[in-house]
Amino acid sequence: MVGRTLDRIRRTAPISALGLVLLFTQACANLSGQPEFLTITRTQMHMGTLVTITAVAPTESAALAASTEGFLEIRRLEALLSTWISSSELSAVNAAAGKAAVHVSQDTLSVVKLALRVAEVTDGAFNIAIGPAVDLWNVTEKQSIPTTEELQLVRNQIALEAVHIDDAKQTIFLDRAGMRIDVGGIAKGYAADQAVLSMKKAGATAGIVALSGDIKAFGRLPEGKRFPIGIQHPRKRGEILLMLDLENEAISTAGDYERYFERDGVRYHHILDPSTLQPARECQSVSIIAKEGGWADGLDTGVFVLGPARGMHLIEKLGDVHAIIVDREGKVHVSSGLKQRIRFPAGEEKEKPR
Ligand code: FAD
Ligand code: MG
Repeated sequence: MVGRTLDRIRRTAPISALGLVLLFTQACANLSGQPEFLTITRTQMHMGTLVTITAVAPTESAALAASTEGFLEIRRLEALLSTWISSSELSAVNAAAGKAAVHVSQDTLSVVKLALRVAEVTDGAFNIAIGPAVDLWNVTEKQSIPTTEELQLVRNQIALEAVHIDDAKQTIFLDRAGMRIDVGGIAKGYAADQAVLSMKKAGATAGIVALSGDIKAFGRLPEGKRFPIGIQHPRKRGEILLMLDLENEAISTAGDYERYFERDGVRYHHILDPSTLQPARECQSVSIIAKEGGWADGLDTGVFVLGPARGMHLIEKLGDVHAIIVDREGKVHVSSGLKQRIRFPAGEEKEKPR
C-alpha cells in the first residue's frame, strides 16, 4: 500500500499516536542563527495506521532522505508481513496451513521467532496463532459477539505447538488446517526497529519512528534533550496520563480504547486472552519500554492479557524492561525502574502510582 505522504518540515510538532503523544521543541540555532540541525517530521499511512517519522540531521536533504528510507523499510516489511495483503509471505504461510511449509525471508522468520520467545516468557498470553479467534471477533468491522460454540470450533487451531520453524530451510509450517498467524501485536514494533536502522544508515543523527502506539527513538533532539513522550489516558481521549523521555529506547502501548465496540455496557476489544478467546479484562492499557521495539510490542500485548499482578511480576523478573499498567479500575502501576523517570502533566494532582 503506497504511503499517502502528508509531508511538512516542522520544528515543533505535537503528533499524537495511539496511546502516545510526541511533543518536540524548537531546533537549536547556533550563534549565526542558522540551525545546526534540522528536525523534519513526516506522516504516511502504512500497516493500517498513521506512521510518523521524525529525522534529525545536519541538512534538510539528509533529514528528508533518512525519513524516506524509514518509510521505504516499513513498506518493505508490510509487503512481507501483512495479512491484509494476499501476496504477503505471511498470507502464503496461512494459506498453506495443514498442507505445506513455506519458504520465507529472514525478516518474517525473525518476527515469528521473536513472537514465540514472547509467548514463552508470557506463558502463552502472547499467542500469534490467535488469528482465527481475531477473525471471529473482528471488532473493527463485524462488531458481533461470537458464540461459545463458534469459538470452541477454532480452539484447536490456536496452538503454538503447531507452528514449525525450520531455520536451515528458512520455512514456516502450520500443521493444522485453518490456522492463521497474526503478527498485529508485534510486527509494528519490529518495523520501528528496522526503520531506525535504515534512518541511521541514511545519515540521521537522531529521530523517532511512531507506528500508532509503537515507537522507537534514537539519539537526542538538537538541543540535547531526550524525546518527550506522553502516554494517553485510556479513558479520557486526548488527555495525557503521564510523560517520560526516551533515548535509544522503544515504547509500545496496547490498549482497549482504539479497536473496540460496546454492547450492553461491556467493552469488547481486540486483545484476546488465548485461554478464554474472550477480550482480556484485567487492563485498560499497558505501555512497555525496552531497548527493542519488537520486544516492547509483543510484551505490551502479553502483559495486557496477564493483567497487573502477573504482568508486573514478569516485568520485574525480566529486569531490563519497564512498564506502566493501567488496571481495569484505572489504577496506575509503574515498574520500579521507571518511578523516577515519569512525570505528570502540570497541575495534575495524581494518585501516586502503585
Ligand atoms: P497490540 O495491542 O500490540 O496487539 C493487539 C493486536 O494483536 C490485535 O489487533 C491482534 O491482531 C493481535 N492479538 C490479539 N490478541 C493477541 C494475543 N493474545 N497474542 C498475540 N496477538 C494478539 N489494520 C488495518 O485495519 N488495515 C491494514 O491494512 C493493516 N495492515 C497491517 C499490516 C501489518 C504488517 C501489521 C503488523 C498490522 C496491520 N494492521 C492493519 C493492523 C493494525 O496496524 C494493528 O496491528 C492493530 O491496530 C493493532 O495494533 P496495536 O499496536 O494496537 O496491537
Ligand atoms: Mg503489541
